[in-house]
Amino acid sequence: MTRLAQTADLTDVQIEILRTVRDFVNKEIIPHAQRLEHDDAYPQDIVDGMKEMGLFGLMIPEEYGGLGESLLTYALVVEEIARGWMSVSGVINTHFIVAYMLRQHGTAEQKRHYLPKMATGEIRGAFSMSEPDLGSDVAAIKTRARRDGSDYVVDGSKMWLTNGGSSTLIALLAKTDEGADTPYRNLTTFLVDKPAGFGEVRPGLTIPGKIDKMGYKGVDTTEAVFDGLRIGADQILGGTPGRGFSHMMDGVEVGRVNVSARACGIAIRAFELAVEYAQQRKTFGKPIAEHQAIAFKLAEMGTKVEAAHLMMVNAARLKDAGQRNDVEAGMAKLLASEFCAEVTQDAFRIHGGYGYSKEYEIERLMREAPFLLIGEGTSEIQKTIISRGLLREYKSRG
Ligand SMILES: Cc1cc2nc3c(=O)[nH]c(=O)nc-3n(C[C@H](O)[C@H](O)[C@H](O)COP(=O)(O)OP(=O)(O)OC[C@H]3O[C@@H](n4cnc5c(N)ncnc54)[C@H](O)[C@@H]3O)c2cc1C
Repeated sequence: MTRLAQTADLTDVQIEILRTVRDFVNKEIIPHAQRLEHDDAYPQDIVDGMKEMGLFGLMIPEEYGGLGESLLTYALVVEEIARGWMSVSGVINTHFIVAYMLRQHGTAEQKRHYLPKMATGEIRGAFSMSEPDLGSDVAAIKTRARRDGSDYVVDGSKMWLTNGGSSTLIALLAKTDEGADTPYRNLTTFLVDKPAGFGEVRPGLTIPGKIDKMGYKGVDTTEAVFDGLRIGADQILGGTPGRGFSHMMDGVEVGRVNVSARACGIAIRAFELAVEYAQQRKTFGKPIAEHQAIAFKLAEMGTKVEAAHLMMVNAARLKDAGQRNDVEAGMAKLLASEFCAEVTQDAFRIHGGYGYSKEYEIERLMREAPFLLIGEGTSEIQKTIISRGLLREYKSRG
């Protein structure tokens, strides 16, 4: 695509990275995505290729062996990758959030220990807030870490860990009861090392197996059961207990830009497929693109692709400029994920009966798009964040 979803004022380095990634996506991801997805197969060759390109260290500072790129670069890379196959962006997303949290909040020792190995992809991150009984209501977390000498002992169940099996480091949010009067300050993030795999991966930690999902296949999503896991107090992110909620929210905020970027990528691909099909398929003596109803659909789809991209870029640039972007990231996530679902649905309709066939890419996109309405906070949660921010900003003086 040459016209839609362009980004102004990129550096030569950003342009070069995006060109390389786009080439990789066209050659190494799109031709294999459909088969791998239908087989629910982990895309090991693609992951190895991403390691070679240094994508696991894209935002990790150069002093720790990463490429030291901005959130904008990361988001644009994710958009390209999700255009090929969303699950591949899922492989790097939790890793990126954990690396970002370490970069922002880790102790000097934690950064020295983890970031160089995360930059090469040798250590791979997952993050764990959600539990069987909660997702949106993070403050209600039940998984508990009880102090015992110089250790903590963790008990509880976690749900929906993306990369739960393939990761080797979990950023875990648990309740530590600091005696604070708000639940938000009684939560702590722990850095839990583990080997990749399933079953009892270390004493006190079991990763039961992959959750069977409707889409977002290939990448493993798991539960995690903590039963007396012993972990040193030095594994608290940043060294001080009680700060876990704000650490995680910081991570989720950049995660929201990333989810917006994924939604943009899927919407771009859905548009590309639809605009091509609409010019090939003929009904009543002419290509369906020449029926005004279909042409107008394409116009609306293109407009949504463009709007979502611009909002995502704006949210990323704000964060890169060191400004607060909670409202803008929430808006970008809300708009991009809702538009993605709509554009994908329209592309599906344009394909007629063939859209329902597993031979056509659009059936996969139809199963992937709904996840973006949920991950990193549902649309309702985004509206809560946006309205709170706006009411703060536009506080009545009356
Ligand atoms: C494939 C997949 C991967 C995931 N990966 C991760 C991961 O890596 N790490 C992780 O920690 N979590 C992960 N999650 C969990 C995800 O973040 C949660 O599913 C999400 O936050 C929603 O939480 P919930 O499912 O508990 O829904 P609930 O919070 O139970 O919400 C149910 C419904 O109620 C609505 N609702 C809830 N509260 C309100 C309110 N106050 N006002 C209005 N409406 C409300 C919601 O919008 C939703 O429609 C993943 C989920 C999926 C499906």
